[in-house]
Amino acid sequence: THFGFKTVREDEKESLVGQVFGNVASSYDLMNDVMSGGVHRLWKDHFIRTLAPGPTTKLLDVAGGTGDIAFRFLDYISATHPNPSPHVTLLDINPAMLAVGQQRAQQLGHTNIAFTEGNAERLEGIEDASVDAYTIAFGIRNCTHVDRVLREAYRVLKPGGRFMCLEFGSVENPVVARMYDLYSFHLIPTMGGLIANDRESYQYLVESIRKFPPQPVFADMIKEAGFKVVGKGWEDLTFGVAAIHSGFKL
Ligand code: SAM
Repeated sequence: THFGFKTVREDEKESLVGQVFGNVASSYDLMNDVMSGGVHRLWKDHFIRTLAPGPTTKLLDVAGGTGDIAFRFLDYISATHPNPSPHVTLLDINPAMLAVGQQRAQQLGHTNIAFTEGNAERLEGIEDASVDAYTIAFGIRNCTHVDRVLREAYRVLKPGGRFMCLEFGSVENPVVARMYDLYSFHLIPTMGGLIANDRESYQYLVESIRKFPPQPVFADMIKEAGFKVVGKGWEDLTFGVAAIHSGFKL
C-alpha cells in the first residue's frame, strides 16, 4: 500500500493512523526497543516518577496502546504503597493495539485496567471531573485536532487533577539535531522495513514527529485549553528528542 504521507488531508488522517497502528500492533513493542535502543523505557519510567501517583489515584491513560504507561503506573503504586487501590482506564482508538495490551496485562497479572475503545477527541462515556490524572504518551501527535484532545482532557479531570503528555519534541542543539535527522530519516524507515516489514508505517512515524509543534508552541496550546503550568511547562528528555508537558486543572 502507498499512503501518500506528505499529502495527508485532515479528513484522512484518522483512517491513515488507523491503518498504521493496525499494521504495527504485533511488532510495536519490539520496534520501540530497537529504534530507541531501549531509551523509551527510561522516558516512560521518568514520566511515571514525575506523576508520582498516590495509592488511590484514578488514571485515564489515553492512546494507551499496548499498556506501557498503565503497567508502569500500577507497578509504581504497588512499589510505593502497602495497600493501594488504584484504577486505570486505558483508552485507545485501535482494537489491534488494545488486543496486544490486554494480552500483556493478562501475562503480567494486571487486573485493574479497563480497556476501552475510544477517540481522544471525544471521550464519550467519561464523565466531567472524574479522573485524578490524565496521561497521553506518544499519542497526541497522531490525533487530528490537538485542541479538541486538550479540551477533553480538561473536561474529564477533577479540579486539582494533572494532565501529563510524553511526546517527541524538537531538538535545539544543531549538532544533535543533525545526527537525529540522519538517524530518523534514513535508519528508522529502513529498520521498519527490515524488522516489521512495513517501511511506510515507520515513514509516517518520522513525518508525524516532524510535523508536531515544538515544545514552546505545544505548551501554549496546553495553557490555551485552561491548564496552569509550572515554570515553562515542560521538561526536555534526551536533548529534546522527547519532552514531558504537564498542566494542572485548578
Ligand atoms: N501510549 C503507548 C505507548 O507509549 O507505548 C502507545 C503509543 S502509540 C505510538 C500511539 C497510539 O495512539 C496508538 O495505539 C494509536 O492507536 C493511538 N491513537 C491514535 N489516534 C488516536 C485517537 N484519536 N484517540 C485515541 N487513540 C489514538
